[in-house]
Amino acid sequence: MIITGMFDYFDCDVKCPVCSNSVSDFQTKDFDRCFDHYQPGDLVDRRSLKSIRVYTTCPHLRVFEKFENDIMYIKTQSLWIEYIIPIIRGHIVRDQNLWRRSTHELNVSGIRFHKRDTFTEQDARKEVEVWNKKITDDIRITEFERKLHEEIYTTKS
Ligand SMILES: [Zn+2]
Repeated sequence: MIITGMFDYFDCDVKCPVCSNSVSDFQTKDFDRCFDHYQPGDLVDRRSLKSIRVYTTCPHLRVFEKFENDIMYIKTQSLWIEYIIPIIRGHIVRDQNLWRRSTHELNVSGIRFHKRDTFTEQDARKEVEVWNKKITDDIRITEFERKLHEEIYTTKS
């Protein structure tokens, strides 16, 4: 997850709607932004708060850019996933069916890694390739399952 200024953590586990992988590192800016941890079911002492917004990203594509001064530059194209979660009687609602999700493709953003001593540019490219293959396979399988599910259940009815 990208660091976006000050925030608190929201600990929950959901499935990415595109690749079906677990995403869990959510953030929120609706509390005191002190890197505290909140989770579904928590009692939050704020009468005026009707809902909170939590967000994360699921990385779907990485593009190796360059090595420069021992720093490796990699761009990541991600799916932005956010939820509006109701607060009822001071509690963050646990039932994910009541959460409202929205998603969009996030523009490519640069990520830098410090280059490890024995790590060559070739190693870096290979690692990115392996990651991209895994995630494109995950996306393809998810799409295939949905298509199959739709076919089975629409022909039966
Ligand atoms: Zn995903």
